[in-house]
Amino acid sequence: MDYSAFAQRLQPSAIRSVSKAIHGKKVISFAGGMPHPSTFPHVELAALAAEVLETRSAEALQYGQTQGYQPLLETVSGYLRGRGLPGITTDNLLIAAGSQQALDLVGRILIDAGDLVLMESPGYPGASAAFANLGARVEGIPVLADGPDLDVLEEKVRREVPKFFYTTPNFANPAGVLVSMEKRKKIAEMAERHGFWVVEDDAYGELFFAEASPADIVPLKAFDQSGCVIYMQTFSKTISPGLRVAAIAAPAAAIERLEMTKQVADMFTSSFTQILVNEFIVRGHFAARLPALRSLYQSRRDAMDQALRANFPEARWVTPKGGFFFWLEMPEGTDTQALLAPALDSGVAFMPGACFFVGHNVDPSQAARTIRLAYSRESEADIARGLAQ
Ligand code: PMP
Repeated sequence: MDYSAFAQRLQPSAIRSVSKAIHGKKVISFAGGMPHPSTFPHVELAALAAEVLETRSAEALQYGQTQGYQPLLETVSGYLRGRGLPGITTDNLLIAAGSQQALDLVGRILIDAGDLVLMESPGYPGASAAFANLGARVEGIPVLADGPDLDVLEEKVRREVPKFFYTTPNFANPAGVLVSMEKRKKIAEMAERHGFWVVEDDAYGELFFAEASPADIVPLKAFDQSGCVIYMQTFSKTISPGLRVAAIAAPAAAIERLEMTKQVADMFTSSFTQILVNEFIVRGHFAARLPALRSLYQSRRDAMDQALRANFPEARWVTPKGGFFFWLEMPEGTDTQALLAPALDSGVAFMPGACFFVGHNVDPSQAARTIRLAYSRESEADIARGLAQ
């Protein structure tokens, strides 16, 4: 008896392995990109949950529509229009159980086995794995200080038009980069000219710091003239990942296909958590908490920047203007994977960078000297303590 070819292709995730190694231990962790638990709005959610269960249990505990809870679709379409996507209506939206599910669903409607998919390298391993699992040939586009290298992208596209280009223009995981509006426009134009899709993942856009403004995080989809950009955004980093609520914005024809795909995956995203998220936004809690979230993560970013300058003057990095991550290049010859076990022994976890590189043309010694450090999970004091060890 054999497993499917799909099951035989599956690879364990390096991030999950580090998470498993530190689970239940007292460790200062810069490894996972987790929101800090103190940011979870448990008081507001507890009150909303009690009210919803009291007054609307027939709806909250019932099967729901695959596309999503209608009032939430309306709320999210209004929100996205405010973010710079004026054409979005509820017909252009689908609610997914987190943007990880969104990546899988979008992969399923776009990828045939053997298709070429391009993405930023270093890039989000949850995306490269989702696409590779569906049989895509996933290749990387190097990331510069201001986003993907468009000369390399253009050259690759000229050689072979990809099925899509996956990109995270706002504070990418792991590189932390903010892509300029000019580059976003060029990517949208290139996609239109050559006829490929763009999959835009906006997990971190709302978490921008003082050096950036709402004008800097307008989605790449705002430059989409022909309906070739599929955009996704999650409430995991701004409300709670435990609720599993994210949205996909796409042309109506793509939404119909996503809906049929989700129908057989899980039928619908939890009615209960969709209602909670909707009420949380409609009653103003979401907008009200964003400034405090931004300033909390900015203070941690500052603490890490300072601790890195003090303890790793030989490393190179671009200070992120938002999001959760520093991406470091250590001096030539460093093997960050080899540093992990001793660091764990002394109570500090981080992600060696090699697992974030995508495709085949990666110099292993270049990849081996990179590190991703998340500042989201630890206090300023623990950031300073962890980096001093
Ligand atoms: N995309 C990116 C870039 C991420 O960093 C993450 C979370 N690490 C996700 C998607 C998935 O998040 P969620 O499924 O919780 O929305």
